[in-house]
Amino acid sequence: MKTNNLTISADIYGCPNRCKHCWLGHMPNRKMPDGSDEMIVNYFKPHFHSITFYSWVREPDYCENYVERWQRDIQISVNAKPQRFELASFWRLVRDKNYVRFLKSVGVNKVQLTFFGTEEITDWYIGRKGAYQELLRATEILIKNKIAPRWQVFISTKNATDIIKLLSKSKELNLSERCKDFGEKFSFFIHSGSCDGENRKLYPFRINREDILAELIPYYNNFSETKTEAELCEFLAKDSTCFAYHNENEITLNIANSFDVYFNFTHMRPEWKIGNILTDKSSELVRRIINEDIPALRVAKNTPVSKLVKQFGDPQSHKIFDCVDDYKAYLLNEMIRSQF
Ligand code: SF4
Repeated sequence: MKTNNLTISADIYGCPNRCKHCWLGHMPNRKMPDGSDEMIVNYFKPHFHSITFYSWVREPDYCENYVERWQRDIQISVNAKPQRFELASFWRLVRDKNYVRFLKSVGVNKVQLTFFGTEEITDWYIGRKGAYQELLRATEILIKNKIAPRWQVFISTKNATDIIKLLSKSKELNLSERCKDFGEKFSFFIHSGSCDGENRKLYPFRINREDILAELIPYYNNFSETKTEAELCEFLAKDSTCFAYHNENEITLNIANSFDVYFNFTHMRPEWKIGNILTDKSSELVRRIINEDIPALRVAKNTPVSKLVKQFGDPQSHKIFDCVDDYKAYLLNEMIRSQF
């Protein structure tokens, strides 16, 4: 009997950015062959009660024909309808004047934009020159069309003071008042992000909790809930449970443009690969999905957190982690990296 609901996010078009915090990891842009969408849905259809299909994992609406693409995602989904999120392509917002109208037409009222500070540091983090100016222009386009921007900011030792200037910029642009004018709220929030994917490489620059400037703390997401690595090491030192990701009836898969299939648990690295649509039989690949039988999860299910802490934790470190699970995921990926 087919009981599980499946959500598929396929990297059909890629992403114009190469953000240094990208949890998915950097992958080449390679458009998947025409018809891949239907082929992927048909591959899973016999095994799932419903399938919600998205033609993007990375940048939404990166393709030229994003209107037809959205309709097509709806059309090929099975017993389900894809949703819009508070996500959009700022790359497209500044290049295509019709795009913002499309966002309005599908009910988008807020869009998250990601900054790392002001111009130089944001361009460096996003991986291309001009990104910061595009984010500012995207902000203006959104507000003009009564869509509230939400500025998300990743903090590290490299940008901690520069974020003060970014905060001033948001005030200088009067974004809060201008969003109030059309009944929406502008938000500015800071966090450190998880420590997987590309962001793992920034572990040496993860900021110490005590180095976060007082002016920024009110904007830090749930700052009182954050912990230092030392506190987490102490807290988890005797934890005999295992940190294994697990699905119930709702399963989400990320599909790379090579047709490699991953859960959406953490980054899309080889140890987390479930299989490949072109080379694996669907019955076998679905068996691995349902039984959660992949190399990384075998390690996760057999390694107590206390062992992860002992082997990979740094009890002297004051680096900030936003939640306990982010830290467990970091430790688990360190263990997995050491074994593969
Ligand atoms: S974080 Fe998003 S926009 Fe940045 S590289 Fe990754 S997928 Fe692309």
